Amino acid sequence: MVATTTTDLDLTPYGGVTPDAAWREEVLRLAEERDAVLLAHNYQLPEIQDVAHHTGDSLALSRIAASSTASTIVFCGVHFMAETAKILSPEKTVLIPDERAGCSLADSITAEQLREWKAQHPGAVVVSYVNTTAAVKAETDVCCTSSNAVDVVRSIPEDREVLFCPDQFLGAHVKRVTGRENLHIWAGECHVHAGINGPELAEKAAANPDADLFIHPECGCATSALYLAGEGAVPADQVKILSTGDMLTAARSTNASSVLVATEVGMLHQLRRAAPEIDFRAVNDRASCRYMKMITPAALLRCLREGLDEVTVDQETAERGRDAVRRMIAIGQPGGGE
Ligand code: SF4
Repeated sequence: MVATTTTDLDLTPYGGVTPDAAWREEVLRLAEERDAVLLAHNYQLPEIQDVAHHTGDSLALSRIAASSTASTIVFCGVHFMAETAKILSPEKTVLIPDERAGCSLADSITAEQLREWKAQHPGAVVVSYVNTTAAVKAETDVCCTSSNAVDVVRSIPEDREVLFCPDQFLGAHVKRVTGRENLHIWAGECHVHAGINGPELAEKAAANPDADLFIHPECGCATSALYLAGEGAVPADQVKILSTGDMLTAARSTNASSVLVATEVGMLHQLRRAAPEIDFRAVNDRASCRYMKMITPAALLRCLREGLDEVTVDQETAERGRDAVRRMIAIGQPGGGE
């Protein structure tokens, strides 16, 4: 059976609603009526981030979901994130405003492909980035975020082979830092992050020599950024490889007056809110995730009015996936992943 991916679906977002004050009021009223907490990922549209009760990265939001007393979680993000929230909070109703909001990185590997890869490397330890489906997490030994991927791999005995999936750029970053030769990397990528490339970064860095560079390790340019630093083209202390949660922490403590940001452009909204005095600029201002932007004002309203779309994960998959996520939380500083 061929797996259905986000590329097979009609991805025209729900539309026709203006995010004005009346919309905002109605969203909050319906959320209260439904006993729902509204969570928005850092890459969401600004109006969705602004109306949400909490914003953050995928893991931070899943933790908030698990500790919330609300009986319903409305997850404004992409599908695997809502699944992770459901895995960690099986007793709660988890809704996503548009279930077609997938992720090209999570779609890079299916559970069947992972089972085949494992069969080729018996005894290997599987490490999966949190951007994976629940079915892939169920086949995983330990999940990781971009913040603790290095610690997770270091926690595995040296003589064990490691299968790292699905992101090749994060995998290359981990391999470079750990120097581990028995780490095999799946050739998956996020189309948005892979589109942020080295030449573009080099050009922007040369035009803004005093700017800090905040780089997400899933970016195709992470290798270039380290290379540029190694060559002395950019002072090494200006290059910061950070998860989205760590970017916010760094924004509050940097002395730089301008920062070049290499990740999805939705992140600029939170960074500007966190440090309004800093000039944040995108390395690639076309780096916008169409799946994240499917959570429109109309989709959120429909979700709250109709209780749709509900996210479910079968019990066995959820239990196995939960073990992999819990092992991740026990190692290093998980931070927030994407
Ligand atoms: S930005 Fe990339 S990794 Fe993130 S949700 Fe979109 S497709 Fe997936």
